[in-house]
Amino acid sequence: MIDSYNRIINYLRVSITDRCNLRCVYCMPKEGVSFLGHEDILRYEEILRIVNIAVKFGIIKIRITGGEPLVRRGVIEFLSELMNVEGLQDISLTTNGILLEDFAERLFDAGIHRINVSLDSLVPEKYRMITRGGDLNRVLRGIEKARAAGFSPIKINIVGIQGFNDNEIENFAELIVDKPYQVRFIEYMPIGAPMNESFHHLSTDDIINTIKKRYTLLSRNSVERAGGPARVYRVDGCKGELGFIGAMSHQFCNTCNRLRLTANGELRACLFSDEPAADLKTPLREGCTDEELHEIITGLISRKPRSYEGPSYQSSRKKCVRNMSSIGG
Ligand code: SAM
Ligand code: SF4
Repeated sequence: MIDSYNRIINYLRVSITDRCNLRCVYCMPKEGVSFLGHEDILRYEEILRIVNIAVKFGIIKIRITGGEPLVRRGVIEFLSELMNVEGLQDISLTTNGILLEDFAERLFDAGIHRINVSLDSLVPEKYRMITRGGDLNRVLRGIEKARAAGFSPIKINIVGIQGFNDNEIENFAELIVDKPYQVRFIEYMPIGAPMNESFHHLSTDDIINTIKKRYTLLSRNSVERAGGPARVYRVDGCKGELGFIGAMSHQFCNTCNRLRLTANGELRACLFSDEPAADLKTPLREGCTDEELHEIITGLISRKPRSYEGPSYQSSRKKCVRNMSSIGG
């Protein structure tokens, strides 16, 4: 479907849980998070029904996210069913990697071959600090297991933070020298838990300048350029690629192709906008028809805002009080 600003809407991010086995400092508060109850969360068959309707108006790409998607019971069976939805061309998953070691092979066998792993530090103590307790070695073993299982691409996502991991940029880049990973630097977005006071914004342009001191970025990858917000480069002498997502400094609203389904059944057209979400759970549970659901979804697409307010953290921070873990990143 094409929205009011001529953007093709073909990508749906689906958060299957708001729960997580980590508590990243920029995503969730340390304590006091109230999670959705069992009844408030969309059942897998409800998600599948929404997806089946969504493919009818042009959704071809789905990313499963959370919270941490691998903590939801039955995720493998759900993914196998999702693979059977006709019309989907690309199904991928975003994970913090803590359980990847245990899940990599089953995920691959279920048909998921594309994965994003979040990893904000390569120093065990720093990783434990930013995730409030995570074990870096488990994640590294999980990534290795995914590679051995045959996942491609494996994208490693790093939220760049001045005062935390700005001194690790070259170490992250080194991951692609002899492994075919796509290492992607993402700008912190002022959404969710407030950042630690000693952490500051780090722009992707600053990261690129640091990388250029040691590596030669080659031509932009044309496939990646065609879709998605990442600027992706091949790198001289390296097997993998580097990607940069300047979520705040390089607004990409004019090519935004995505919708987000939250774990409690709200469909959102924009991560930042306060445009009300469309509640799909209530009509679903009241027995609505596929046509009615279709109408609610296309109505939301037609209200998808042209852009969010702009790259000012303060304005966005004031406006946006939701957690990324509840929307799915
Ligand atoms: N738990 C999974 C994970 O961490 O990959 C999936 C959900 S998580 C919300 C998805 C992505 O959002 C992660 O890569 C995380 O680093 C990112 N994220 C969370 N809060 C963010 C923020 N305030 N700014 C930028 N990225 C954020
Ligand atoms: Fe959990 Fe992912 Fe949020 Fe970290 S970023 S707390 S792993 S949902």
